[in-house]
Amino acid sequence: MSTNSVLEKEAATGTNEEKNNILRSTQTVIHQALDKLKYPEEFYELLKEPLRMLTVKIPIRMDDGTVKIFTGYRAQHNDAVGPTKGGIRFHPEVTEEEVKALSIWMSLKCGIVDIPYGGGKGGIICDPREMSFRELERLSRGYVRAISQIVGPTKDIPAPDVFTNSQIMAWMMDEFSRIDEFNSPGFITGKPLVLGGSHGRESATASGVTICIREAAKKKGINLEGARVVVQGFGNAGSYLSKFMHDAGAKVIGISDAYGALYDPNGLDIDYLLDRRDSFGTVTKMFSNTISNKELLELDCDILVPAAIENQITEENAHNIRASIVVEAANGPTTLEATRILTDRGILLVPDVLASAGGVTVSYFEWVQNNQGYYWAEEEVAEKLEKVMVKSFNKIYDTSQNHMIDMRLAAYMVGVRRMAEASRFRGWI
Ligand code: NAD
Repeated sequence: MSTNSVLEKEAATGTNEEKNNILRSTQTVIHQALDKLKYPEEFYELLKEPLRMLTVKIPIRMDDGTVKIFTGYRAQHNDAVGPTKGGIRFHPEVTEEEVKALSIWMSLKCGIVDIPYGGGKGGIICDPREMSFRELERLSRGYVRAISQIVGPTKDIPAPDVFTNSQIMAWMMDEFSRIDEFNSPGFITGKPLVLGGSHGRESATASGVTICIREAAKKKGINLEGARVVVQGFGNAGSYLSKFMHDAGAKVIGISDAYGALYDPNGLDIDYLLDRRDSFGTVTKMFSNTISNKELLELDCDILVPAAIENQITEENAHNIRASIVVEAANGPTTLEATRILTDRGILLVPDVLASAGGVTVSYFEWVQNNQGYYWAEEEVAEKLEKVMVKSFNKIYDTSQNHMIDMRLAAYMVGVRRMAEASRFRGWI
């Protein structure tokens, strides 16, 4: 394995210790949010872990004739509000703890944007970069057969995540439709348009982040026209976001990938970089005058968007962040201690569970379109997403102001309340 490949794998999802920390940090904030809302301890006991966690073994015939046994997971955090919903990650470093934490985040996101789902998440320990197209197809179909009893359009609806895409969603939908003996486009979202996908799904996360940046800039009195923006990560989320910021008249002065960062105080040529980046979101290898990711995060700018991986802003560097606004497009880029430091320094931090909720919102739109069999134009999707994100942002901003707390705790309060209430009305607690 090359050094680059090792670096990319480690960088992509963090160490096992970090993943355990992410689950613990999530549980800590859920506990704080429930306490603030005055729910008794049983609610925390119910919500601190997924209701169901299925581990499956998937035997796959490889192209060379051998059989390899893969391990997969599906977590369903809470289905009191409605079916669970969340992506499937294909990655060599997937762990049970990570899938659990991600399913809880999905519940919070659905509560925040007020869509009728609970959170779910799935993962398979594999390296899709070392598998052939047909091996990937067999693995995708095998995973669906293994989890078919607990998923379905009214039970648990998967979607793409790290290293899974619309082709994989298409195979999974086809396999489920065969098992179900019914054409079931609503079984999964993130599908190709011809199979019932939605306009705007691919760029939905970045669109939602863009709306949050605009709303946060208004609160801070920053004009987006000419504002200096730094984006860490140039994959699906970071690249679309850089483009949207550039098109809005902002100056994107820094971007990065796993190998380094590019900086130009006069603004980078985003269209050129988009044209040159590869399918894994790598572009900096073409340049020699790069800076490090550490330096990138500490650049003097107005808006900083971590859009790559976990644990990037910690107590080590939180004092050196010079942005006025930090918007978390990535899941878990800021530790709890760093959140406290940034908030104490007057930096407005828009948390991941709000900022990156545009993806699940448009996934919900896709499912609604599948259920009604009537499809919306791109403008209609954009208009509906705009309404949902603006309302959610302001609800959380107001909660943070009213309770004098940071926006992460405010977002958890908004996100957790609906599943707690639904669990109570169902008589579970
Ligand atoms: P991606 O795999 O398409 O891109 C990741 C980018 O981060 C790449 O440019 C990669 O080179 C870079 N990167 C990897 N390690 C790095 C490191 N150590 N330092 C700096 N950059 C590094 O992933 P994505 O879909 O854009 O997701 C990025 C983040 O956004 C993840 O945390 C993901 O969970 C979150 N997110 C994405 C979506 C979505 O719809 N894509 C939705 C919600 C949340």
